[in-house]
Amino acid sequence: MNPTRKIFVPDAASLPKTADVVVVGGGIVGVATAFWLSRAGLDTVLVEMREGLSTLTTPLSVESFRAQMTESAMADLVLPSIRMYENFAETVGIPGHDIALKHQGYLFVSDDAAMAEKLRQAVAVHHSHGVTGSEFVDADAIRRRFPYISERMVCGTFHQNDGWLSSHEATQGFAKGSHAKFLLQTRVTGIGTDAAGVAAVHTSRGSIATRHVVNAAGPFAQSIAQMVGVTLPVDAVRRQKVHVAPKPQIPRSAPLCIDIGAETYWRPEHGGALMAWVDPDEPVTANPLEDVPTDWDYAAVLLDKITALSPFWAEVAETLSASDLTTTAGYYMYTPDDQPLIGPVDAVNGFHLNCGYWAGVMLSPEAGRRVSCLVTGEMRPEDNPLRPSRFAEGLVTTGDSFLRGRH
Ligand SMILES: Cc1cc2nc3c(=O)[nH]c(=O)nc-3n(C[C@H](O)[C@H](O)[C@H](O)COP(=O)(O)OP(=O)(O)OC[C@H]3O[C@@H](n4cnc5c(N)ncnc54)[C@H](O)[C@@H]3O)c2cc1C
Repeated sequence: MNPTRKIFVPDAASLPKTADVVVVGGGIVGVATAFWLSRAGLDTVLVEMREGLSTLTTPLSVESFRAQMTESAMADLVLPSIRMYENFAETVGIPGHDIALKHQGYLFVSDDAAMAEKLRQAVAVHHSHGVTGSEFVDADAIRRRFPYISERMVCGTFHQNDGWLSSHEATQGFAKGSHAKFLLQTRVTGIGTDAAGVAAVHTSRGSIATRHVVNAAGPFAQSIAQMVGVTLPVDAVRRQKVHVAPKPQIPRSAPLCIDIGAETYWRPEHGGALMAWVDPDEPVTANPLEDVPTDWDYAAVLLDKITALSPFWAEVAETLSASDLTTTAGYYMYTPDDQPLIGPVDAVNGFHLNCGYWAGVMLSPEAGRRVSCLVTGEMRPEDNPLRPSRFAEGLVTTGDSFLRGRH
């Protein structure tokens, strides 16, 4: 191995034998965590079982971010995360590193006039978080400013500064800007403990002695936790999405448009679009898979539903052939309050979590930084509202941000 390479497939000689901290999982959450841990001066090793970083859930996402959060703990993560994304090259220290960030906005709309009050309250909460660009939009404003939205929609919220980015470039930027080592095609098979807590991470290529492990294994976080006898309060639920090939009717400057009641959304993507239905009846998956199956009729069902949000999709649907539509699927991870699990697990000294995400792309920069602050002691566990012990402590509040797909 070239010693200057930090993303590599290790052999017996190049597998690190020790580390201050081992991060399990090379999606955007794990890589952002490794970035901050290594920047804090810790000898950091990330272990990823697949052939590349950001190859499981992360690339399947719609890659969007929004400051429109009503839960304060989520706002505390997403607002600094967005600032890091906005200044990404500076954040990772790689001049010119471009993550294709676009501030095209998020538009939530409803056909239910009774929702207007709730939406006004949501905007007031956004403002209390400092997101003063978030605005309530009535039927007239929707007609005038977003002519591709159905006339059935009578109220909504809009924030121009929300948007989307390349999660691949963000993950690569965090990796390249870090001082960590990233081991590919290396599967974590066990975690050794002794009287002091975590003692080693066992992998398909050998063992790494360490006193700290961060579980950022995405949909496989439960199986990693079970290696130390811990059961996490996380559920994996399949979420599908459709990529639509470019069509002239798709407005390129539109924001991410969301029908709150139907839980459908679409946004433009390079002349085409990404769209999804966050089906609230999708069951919990007991055994998550790497290759997540899609429903053969998902795209057709979604295209039918989404015309209620933007009628032009009916016209587009007439022109589509099967090759214009690509359906993919990954998992949302849910916790009892729909907010992630971040920080040390009390039962096993040195075992930390950064998992339980349904919006991990937009939350990962600050979540990774927080894990690092918790490992180094810069942040006290009790100052972290997303600590895993919050459920046992009875501190759980119900999440109420739209588009989680759960009620
Ligand atoms: C359809 C859809 C749309 C979405 N849209 C958005 C969006 O617009 N905005 C947003 O913020 N979020 C969105 N999300 C959610 C987002 O994609 C996830 O929250 C995020 O990607 C989670 O990142 P992660 O790093 O935790 O998980 P992953 O990307 O799944 O990474 C986990 C990694 O751990 C590795 N791993 C697991 N077990 C082991 C082991 N034993 N040994 C070694 N490695 C292991 C895996 O191989 C994997 O690479 C969406 C998700 C879906 C499915």
